[in-house]
Amino acid sequence: MIQCALCPRKIKGGIIRVKQHLVGGSTEILVCPKTTPEIQKEMKAALDAGKRERDRPVYDDSEEGDVEEDTVEVIESSSTTRKMPLGTG
Ligand SMILES: [Zn+2]
Repeated sequence: MIQCALCPRKIKGGIIRVKQHLVGGSTEILVCPKTTPEIQKEMKAALDAGKRERDRPVYDDSEEGDVEEDTVEVIESSSTTRKMPLGTG
């Protein structure tokens, strides 16, 4: 439980829930009665930044480095299996 910084309400869950409480627009979390459009804007930006952080790949995308060359092996199948057409019905 994290207490909201603006109102005495305690929010069950993590800091994201508190941010959502300040932003509003969620059907699950009651919007903070003390929030302001400025806070909402700030919290929304923080939430969006958090989302972007999660979407980012974990590896470093360094341009230079060892590049592994993948050789594609083409396997020729000697016998081709024919698929029997299924009757429509
Ligand atoms: Zn609040």
